[in-house]
Formats: sequence, C-alpha cells, structure tokens
Amino acid sequence: MAERFCNLIAGRWEFPEANPPIESVNPADISDVVGIVPESTPEDVNRAVESARKAYSGWRLVPPPRRAEILFRVAELLVKNKHFLGELVTREMGKILKEGLGDVQEAIDMAYYMAGEGRRLAGETVPSELPDKDCKSVRVPIGVFALITPWNFPIAIPAWKILPALVAGNTVVFKPSSYTPVCATRFVELFVEAGLPEGVLNLVHGRGETVGRVLAEHPLVDGVSFTGSTKVGEAIIKSCAGIGKEVSCEMGGKNPIIVMDDADLELAIEGSLWASFGTTGQRCTASSRLIVHRDVYDAFLTGFTERAKNLRVGCGLEEDTDMGPLINETQLARVLHYVEVGKKEGARLVTGGRRLTGGVFDRGYFMEPTVFTDVTEDMRIAREEIFGPVVSVFRADSFTHAIQLANSTDYGLSSAVYTRDVNRTAIAERELNSGLVYINAPTIGAEIQLPFGGIKKSGSGHREAGGRGGAIDMFTRMKVIYRDFSGRLQKAQIREE
Ligand code: NAD
Repeated sequence: MAERFCNLIAGRWEFPEANPPIESVNPADISDVVGIVPESTPEDVNRAVESARKAYSGWRLVPPPRRAEILFRVAELLVKNKHFLGELVTREMGKILKEGLGDVQEAIDMAYYMAGEGRRLAGETVPSELPDKDCKSVRVPIGVFALITPWNFPIAIPAWKILPALVAGNTVVFKPSSYTPVCATRFVELFVEAGLPEGVLNLVHGRGETVGRVLAEHPLVDGVSFTGSTKVGEAIIKSCAGIGKEVSCEMGGKNPIIVMDDADLELAIEGSLWASFGTTGQRCTASSRLIVHRDVYDAFLTGFTERAKNLRVGCGLEEDTDMGPLINETQLARVLHYVEVGKKEGARLVTGGRRLTGGVFDRGYFMEPTVFTDVTEDMRIAREEIFGPVVSVFRADSFTHAIQLANSTDYGLSSAVYTRDVNRTAIAERELNSGLVYINAPTIGAEIQLPFGGIKKSGSGHREAGGRGGAIDMFTRMKVIYRDFSGRLQKAQIREE
C-alpha cells in the first residue's frame, strides 16, 4: 500500500476523502506508486484560503528579518535533505538524478537568497519640494497568495514562489501539480519543521480544472502566481482580471539557439544537446529550434544528430542515463502526435520519433531523442510548444536572417547565440525578443539572483526570482508616505507666483 500524503490547512495535516484520491506514479516505472494524495473539494480550498486570511493579520506584522530566520532554517533543512529530495524528484518526475539534485539546489539557493531579502526589503526616501515634510515609500505585503505550479521543477518552482511570498509578509495557499504532489508535500514539511506559524503556508492537493481554478478565482485570494502552460495561464489572467487581483503567469516557450559560422562548433553542439534533451525537453526554456548558419549547417547537423542518437535513455536513477522518461502517457502521446504532424507538414525526420519499447522501456514513458530538418517557419512544429525531446534544425542565410527566424514565434522566453564576434553578441542582446538571452551558452540555466520570465505568450505580470525587479516586486506593493511636520497647511504644486 502506497504512502498517503495530506493537505496542510491551518497547521493540520488532513486527507479529505470526498473524492477518489490521486495516485502519483514514477514515470520510469508505472508499477511504482510514489504516493497517494487527496483530490480536494472546493470546501477544502475555502478552508485553506480562510486559514491563510486569518494567519495574515499576524504574519504581516512579524519583522521581515524574523520571517527570514525561518527561511534560513528552511535552507539548512533543504541542505540536510538534499539527497533524499533529489532522488524523490527523479522518482516522481523522471529527470535524471543530477538534475533532480539540481532542482533541490535551486531551492536551497533561493532559500538563502530570500532569507537575505528579509533585511533588504527597501523602499525609497526622497526629498520633498516643501519644507518640513518628508517623503518615502515602503514595501507592504499584498495578502493571501494562491501559488499554482507545474510538475517539471517540482521543488524549485514552488521554492521560487513560496519563499519570496513569505519573506514579504504574505500568506499562501499552494496547489502543486497533481503529477508531483509528493515532492510538494515533502517540501512543505520542511517549513513546518523550521517553525513557520500555523496557517501561513497551506497546501491543497488536486487537479487544475477543479482545485486550481477554484483557488485562483477565490474572492479572498489577493494575488495569483502561476507557472504552467500558456493555455491555462491565459485562462487565469482572464478570469482574475474581472476580480482585480495581482496576477503573474510564467508560461510556455519555443526557444531558439542561433549557431553562427564563426561559433565554437563543439561547444554549440554540446550546449544544444543539453538544452534540447536535458529534462527530456520538458523545460520551459528548453531549446526546440536550432538556427544554424548555412556555412556550418552540415557539420553541425552531422555532429548534433550523431550525439543525439547516442544519448542513453532510461531510468533517471541509473547512473549512466542521459535522458529520462516523459512525465505521463498523455504527454508522451502529445509529443508523438507532434512527430506525425511534422512528417505530414513535410519536415524531414533525421533521427528518433518513436516510443521506446521492450525491457525496462515497457515500464514507463520513454521516447527517442528526435531531430527534424527542412522545417519552415509556418509549420506547427516550428511554432507550437511540444514540451518533449523534439528539436527542429533551421538553415539561416545570414545573421539577420537567423535573428528574424529566432523572433518568429508567439513565444519569447529564452534565446541563445553562439558566435565569437563581439559585435554580433551586442546586436543579439539588443535584437533577440525574449526575457532571457544567453551568449555562448544554451537557453537553459537561469540563476536565482536575477529576474526570470518571458514576453509575448511566455509571460505576463511581474518577473519571478531575483529581488527588486523580480520576485520582491511580485509579492509586495509600494506604499507612499508623506509626513508634514511644519504644523501648517502646505500645498504641493500650488505656488504663490
Ligand atoms: P499546466 O498548465 O497543465 O498546469 C500547471 C498547473 O496549473 C498545475 O498545478 C495544474 O494542476 C494547474 N491548472 C491546470 N488547469 C488549471 C485551471 N484551469 N485553473 C487553475 N489551475 C490550473 O502545465 P504543466 O503541464 O503542469 O507544465 C508544463 C507547462 O509549464 C509548459 O507549458 C511549460 O512551458 C510551462 N512552464 C513554464 C515555466 C516558466 O517559468 N515560464 C516553467 C516551467 C514550466
């Protein structure tokens, strides 16, 4: 019998039984049930939000450096539990162990960073135009936040949201993906162990259409921070707009890597492999379009395809595995469908494209690393997010053509360029239309101390991560205070001319 993992509401762990529970299974071996969680009801959501509302009145008044001390303890607990959690990430989500550990490391980095923010939540003090008057701005929390997360970074993305939300003085109702609920529960347990007061962080399990939607639209929720698909993000933006909530959404991507004729080709191939097939292509920043200058196109394609063919696919817990499974049957079917769409549209399948079967492969959702060429801008595989190990290689006639191809989708999360020409790097920085730009590095690998997010259909609202200009802006509002100590009525802008 698999272990049961509960909701956390008002400091109590509970397992509502009104609906059939949800099984979380290991995508590399579906006979391995990682845990069972409740499918919560709207009433459970209601109680979680009320609990967060109640806790807010006390938590907002705790001095930020004291809140930060709890976050610091969370960081220490994450360090202590890194290996346990990293293995759990791999078992529940499928990414290879090195990446599972990286997922936890990102949360550790964020916890220490946000603990530091507790002593940095700065506003501004500026001079007044009038005598005996001062002017300042201070940061105040927003209230109750609904935090809704996907499955592909089951510890890191919750950390990106929960830690800044809490240090800023908000209280939280967290709804993780129903595909990685065990990682989410283990993460929340650390906040309890670190001494977070009851009700400040609540956890509600369940599916998106039911629990997620009810939570996002709840009238007592003041802000929503969502990471997931563009389709769901857009629906949340629309439904919350009418209610006037703070909403930030980080969504899909169709990220390009440009490889110029003067690039270090070996470095570009290595980076492209990592960005295309790392995490089985299931990263919002994964590169799914490789735009290669015609003079190095053949050499790049040969090297890249050879290396892609040789990637070892398997269970992420095995030491020599390069690429794990896809998250579930639906996602595997969706990716295989895109392979068929690509072939029908006239693209050339150079390698891969099939589900892997036989032996251990029959236990999970494995597929081959897949490379298409002869892809044109208007094809669906060139425009739509596939979210799997499928990459299209384009031939560019010039640097200008490469930039134009790179910018030719509705998404704008991350882009990269490989070149040794310093002038080209400057032009790429300026012209690439995305929230993140990498020079001589692949599209993945953001660090937590800078804001993260995309433009166009990739992101809306404040950026995640980073401090000011990022997560701290997302989770605070500026309040402006004028104090007049002149003892008389002074009128700004009104002059006795
Ligand atoms: P998803 O949109 O299906 O689900 C994300 C979360 O939203 C889950 O918790 C889900 O239960 C919930 N949800 C689903 N429908 C909902 C609704 N109607 N109302 C409220 N909540 C709802 O995404 P996914 O399949 O979990 O994750 C993959 C997607 O996430 C990809 O598109 C990927 O690009 C994106 N992603 C983006 C970033 C980023 O920072 N830009 C990072 C990681 C993943």
